[in-house]
Order: sequence, then structure tokens, then C-alpha cells
Amino acid sequence: MNPSSISSRFGEVSLRPYQVQAINNLQAHTRQGTRRVLITAPTGAGKSTIAGGVILSAFAEGQRALFIAHRRELILQMYRRLLDMGLPAQDVGILMASDPRRKPQARVQVASIDTLRQRQLPPAELVFVDECHRAMAATYRRIAAAYPQAVHVGLTATPYRADGQGLRDAYDVIVPVATPRQLIAEGYLVEPRVFTVPPASLPDLSGVRVRGGDYDEQALEEAVNRASLVGSLVQHWMAHAQGIRTVVFAVSIAHSRHIVDCFLKAGIPSEHLDGGTPTAERDAILGRLERGETMVVGSVMTLCEGWDQPSVKCAILARPTKSTGLYLQQAGRILRPWNGLRAILLDHAGCVLEHGLPQDERPFSLDGAGKIDKKDLPKKPRVCPSCQAVVPLRVLCCPECKKPMPVVLEMPEETAGELVEAAPEHPHRAVWDELCATAAAKNYRRGWVYHAYKARFGCKPPKQFVVPPLPSDQDAALFDLLRSSARSGGHVSWAEIDQVYGRKSP
Ligand SMILES: [Zn+2]
Repeated sequence: MNPSSISSRFGEVSLRPYQVQAINNLQAHTRQGTRRVLITAPTGAGKSTIAGGVILSAFAEGQRALFIAHRRELILQMYRRLLDMGLPAQDVGILMASDPRRKPQARVQVASIDTLRQRQLPPAELVFVDECHRAMAATYRRIAAAYPQAVHVGLTATPYRADGQGLRDAYDVIVPVATPRQLIAEGYLVEPRVFTVPPASLPDLSGVRVRGGDYDEQALEEAVNRASLVGSLVQHWMAHAQGIRTVVFAVSIAHSRHIVDCFLKAGIPSEHLDGGTPTAERDAILGRLERGETMVVGSVMTLCEGWDQPSVKCAILARPTKSTGLYLQQAGRILRPWNGLRAILLDHAGCVLEHGLPQDERPFSLDGAGKIDKKDLPKKPRVCPSCQAVVPLRVLCCPECKKPMPVVLEMPEETAGELVEAAPEHPHRAVWDELCATAAAKNYRRGWVYHAYKARFGCKPPKQFVVPPLPSDQDAALFDLLRSSARSGGHVSWAEIDQVYGRKSP
């Protein structure tokens, strides 16, 4: 098949230009004899449309295809997508538990991994694995081995494994499809507003063991499931995201329920769901969230992948993780456009500071994290000292509160990539000192310094700028002292007056 034969329209579905490009790139590799290709595309890039385009092209050439996923939502989403793209219903079957759309003769099969491992495998020349960062698990490997002649295509937004190892054993080549920034620029994703909390409101993870690449869950729960941390999470939401449909990613069922209870106590309609929630109840909860009857849904791992509800525009990260993949899967849930709303990420887990902003560009390697050059990794973002917004490294003013950011100095070679903040070098420090001197000389009140600064720069002075004691303060203190002693009919001692002026009594 030559590249120009790929259509930009299948049935009712129009392909975006980068999706057509991705299919062309994949086919260029398979024409050269590469049989195992990993396609990585950011969440929201339309992986199922790309897979559908490949499957329909292969179908038109008389091939058979098998699409494997691990969640019911992903399986149903792919099935519907294939029908929307014009595949006749009799030619696509579902292999999932007792789903009635089982059609053993159909040339395209959409299958649940759990069902597939217990049944006879259908014949296929093209095998897709969705969320293929799992492809190194034994079941996936056994199924892949059963199709030695097929073309294998993996799809994922996050081609990372928690243990830092690569996917080289499962795939020969990686085809990246668009970057988050490109998708934001073209309007397919929205740029998130990101806020964190002061260090005192982040969990203390110093004593939490790391196992298999991520935090030990029991120890993690002890570190995060504390009244003060959960309480600050509700307050933060009230300040930034009130009225916005929200999902919370918690560490454990108990943690999620604790968070939901705190939201309920604050009068916010909230519900909890987890992997054990029956399907019908889960659908009902997500339906109430969609209609805005429920505002906050607490969850553990169950909504991290394959869940797609664009009206949910706020995510609360309450689960610290060492896994860039897990973090990006969670953040990616809120980046699809909906009603022109910005997405809001409230990070109570230190994830953004550890892994970078969700829209940052990230290098990929089939050989694992160890093979990625550190200087290609996203630069650590910074936190605005005034409003706790997490902002790109080099912004001069905070995009949220408009206050100037502390100046950043780049360090010489030994610590390349590491940057330090140099608070005393604030660009407006000299002006501030000058205003304080004027106030002292003219006996102005301290509020004058504040207003003069604001008039000059259009924003409040940063917190580290403090007005030193002024003569006007001493006058005011003396006045208060005289007034209170006049009221009580007493007298004022020299010692009290000396105290006002900061002098030692003789
Ligand atoms: Zn700010």
C-alpha cells in the first residue's frame, strides 16, 4: 500500500492530519519488514482512531485483525469507533466474558485480555495491544508469541514501565505521534492551570520505601491519609476549582473515602468508586458526575486509564508516585477540550515538581529510562511564591497572579540543568529599598510603601519584601500607649516610652 492511499476519512470519522501521518509512518516501517511497532501519542490524540485507520486499511486488503485491551471501556470504545469508521457490524466481534456481540467468524476481533487468555485465540495478521506499557507482562507475551507471523502494534501515551526498564523486548521501533504542546496549539487539548501547595501541606515521604519502582502502598497511605493533608485538599479545591467537575486520584480506598467524606462535610456532593464498584453503580456515579449532580469523585487506580469524560476539568493528585507514566495518565484525564474551560490540576502529591508539567515534551526510549539523556528531560518547573502556581522555569511574571517571579541564576557546568533561586536578586529590590527610605525620611505610614510599589509595578510586592520599622509606626504606637493610659486614668512610665522607641531604659 502506498502512503497516498490512506484516506483522511473513514465512515463518519475524519482523521486529523497527524493521525494520517502516524498511519503512514507505521506503514512505512511495516513495508520495510519491521513487525513490532510501538505508537506513542499523548492522551487525547485519538489512539483508537489511528488504530481504526490501520485496521480498516488492513481489512480492505483481506487481512484479519485482533485488538486487545484490558478494560471494558477501552474495548467498547474501540468497537464503537470501528463501526463509526464504517466497518460493517457483522465483521467485528467482541471477545469479553459473556458479551453477546461474540462473532467468531468476524475478521476483526476486539478482545479483553482476561477473556482471551482462557479461550482459543482468533486468527490474525495484525495484532494491536492497547495501553501497551503493560506488554511485558507474561500474559501479553504469551499471546504475542502465538502470532509469530503477524504485525504487532502497541499503543500507549506513556511508553514507560514503573521499574524504569524499556519495552525493547516487545517492540523494535517507536513511532511518536504529535506532542502535547502541538495538540494544545492546534486546539485538540487544553493547557492546564497547575497549582501545588506549600511544602508543609505536602506529605512527608522521607520514610516511605520504594519497591518495584514506586512507593510502597501501605507506607504511602500512612504518609498521606492524615486529617491536615486531606483538609488542605478540600480548602485548595474551594479556592481554585469550586463548581468544576473533579476527579481525585487517591492512594487507597480508605484514603479516597476519607477525602470524599471531607468534601461531603464541606457541603460538596461527592462520591467514591474503586475497582470493586459494580459496573452499573460505577456508570451511575460517572453519570451523576457528567450531569453535575456529583461534583467530586474520589478514586484509586480505576480511572487512571481509558476513562474519558471531557466535562471533568479538574484533577486532584493525592497519590505521590515515582512513575512518570502513572502521573501523566492521571493528568491526561482532564486535558480534552470542553466548553472552552481550562483544565485545573491541583497537585497535593509533589508529582508536577518531580516529573514536570503534563504538557512538557519528553524523550522516549525503548531501552528504558537509563538510556535517556538527562538534559533532554523536562526542566523542573517552579512554584510561584505568592499563589503556588506551578509555572515553566523561565517565566518572569506568574501567569496566574501576575506577580514577578524570583530571578533564577543558571549554575556552571558541574550542575548543568540544575538551577537555583536567588531571592535577594529580585529585580525590584532596589526600588523597594528606596521607597522604604522615602517613607522613613518623610514620616509616611508603612501602607504608603505598599501602595507606591503597587502603583509602580501593577502588582503586590513579593512576600519577602518587608517594610522596616518606620518613625510613623513609633508615633502610632506612642499614641496608642497614651490613649490606653488616659482611659484607665493611669500614667505612662519612661520605660514604656523607651520601649516604643526601641531604647533601653537607663
Ligand atoms: Zn502566582
